[in-house]
Amino acid sequence: MKTDAIVCKTEGPVLTGIGGTERMAVGIAWVLDESGTVAKSVTGAPSSLGPEDLTAALEKSREQVRRLIAAVPVHEGEIFSTHLNFLEDPAFTQEPLETMKKTGCDAMEAVRRASEELQAVFQEFDDPYMRERAADIRDVGERILRNLRGESEEDLTALPPHTILVAADVTPSRTARLDPRQVRGIVTEMGGRTSHAVIIAGVMNLAAVVGCKDLLSVVKTGDRLIVDSPRGTIYVNPGEERIKEYQAKIEKAAREEEARQKTGTAQLVRKDGSRVLVAANIGSPAEADIALQKGADGIGLFRTEFLFMDRKEMPGEEEQYEAYRKVAEIFAGKPVVIRTLDIGGDKPLPYLAMRREENPFLGLRAIRLCLAREDVFRVQLKALLRAATAGNIHVMFPMISSLQELRAAKNVLESCKAELTRAGVPFFADLKVGMMVEIPAAALLARDFAAEVDFFSIGTNDLTQYTLAVDRGNPDVNPLYDFMHPAVTALVQKTIEAAHCLSIPCFMCGEMASFPQAIPLLAQCGLDEFSVSIDAVARTKEILLQQEGIQTDPAVCP
Ligand code: PEP
Ligand code: MG
Repeated sequence: MKTDAIVCKTEGPVLTGIGGTERMAVGIAWVLDESGTVAKSVTGAPSSLGPEDLTAALEKSREQVRRLIAAVPVHEGEIFSTHLNFLEDPAFTQEPLETMKKTGCDAMEAVRRASEELQAVFQEFDDPYMRERAADIRDVGERILRNLRGESEEDLTALPPHTILVAADVTPSRTARLDPRQVRGIVTEMGGRTSHAVIIAGVMNLAAVVGCKDLLSVVKTGDRLIVDSPRGTIYVNPGEERIKEYQAKIEKAAREEEARQKTGTAQLVRKDGSRVLVAANIGSPAEADIALQKGADGIGLFRTEFLFMDRKEMPGEEEQYEAYRKVAEIFAGKPVVIRTLDIGGDKPLPYLAMRREENPFLGLRAIRLCLAREDVFRVQLKALLRAATAGNIHVMFPMISSLQELRAAKNVLESCKAELTRAGVPFFADLKVGMMVEIPAAALLARDFAAEVDFFSIGTNDLTQYTLAVDRGNPDVNPLYDFMHPAVTALVQKTIEAAHCLSIPCFMCGEMASFPQAIPLLAQCGLDEFSVSIDAVARTKEILLQQEGIQTDPAVCP
């Protein structure tokens, strides 16, 4: 493809979608020419592909996926472990055999049916995370079919430089096979922020805009594109001025990022000597290492529910203990806030056999579920208490709405301590106990709560949706979702004041903590810890250092 042959005389259409990463990119569209559905078997000549061919294709697929697991970082490897699970699941190993027997169809048709049926099951889930797993199933189905046809893996390594991949959907394996030296970004019609492909794109430093309607009817291979992920915008065949503007923005962002590396490791203090912490939000122990390298002063939110997802059964006490201990050890004495399970709402666990709810965000979610399923809660609390011997672990309860609920959770914690004592198992009894303030009721009664916990952490992602009655995951009401709404900021201020009045620290782990327009207000209110996504640690410190009265700690040399 001759990229320099493309001359943009006029400004083309501008498309909007959901920004998946922090990057911007200018490049040339490469449209993947398939619709994204599993290819149908060739009609006409009867195929001779039978059960033995299926067995061989499955084995070959497993080998390819094992190689992928070995080639990508640990966290992304977990994604492909899910693919391996699907490749071992009876849905692919048994059901196609039965379909062949019953209908007389060939292995290709049987695999295609199995894949489509399983995708349909996952597409029915209310939880966007589970729905997005349908893309993983399609990926697995395509792999088996390719191997049945005797085709080699699709060669995405030979794409021209500066490619922006355009597709109905991009599977995680495809994303992982992209070469970041050639590909600058991906844009898709399907997908959401939690798509695995987006997670991988973030790790590979690609620009990504997903969920972009009409993409394939507008964009053709060879079109020049600007992908602005932070804004979720795609410019198709933009004018030269726009391209220059973005090239300048991209260069500026790269210079800023380089300069920020040093700021990331700085430690911040106020004039009175009190520390301002910038911690990281993580979902797995593997991310704790990266968070530490990027300068996080601690972990402000470990979303433990991610340990429970993409698997068939709950992790046991030992497995959880190992995960929590590892994070505590990596942060060696720095605070690590571990949130107890926030399951339910948009994150159901199929193996917990939860009832379907009309309004899952207002239903049996988080602490409510844990109090209803004390067996599940106790396993986690015991693992946490044991792991707390290895570092500075704080335990945090999500979705607290009443004092009774908070007291009930604390009672279960005490009862777990008693059980461990009786069993002679070592644990740390005096770990700090905090709660998330993410329901307006908790913010309004913050003083009452502050008397009964060691810290608060404000969860603005939920606080915003519950205060404004705006679903945080619904793109149609997205413009109304605003954590700078005066009602939300009033609740945030009230919570910080109440915490300080009762002499407990107040943290924030919702997205607002890294929002540049919010940081000055939060700093002024005296927020003690800003817990942000790993990539936002350095930028958040940089903005904080521009605030009156905040400086790097002269006692600590970076
Ligand atoms: C929040 O609600 O702000 C929060 C941090 O929790 P989550 O995004 O996991 O619901
Ligand atoms: Mg929340």
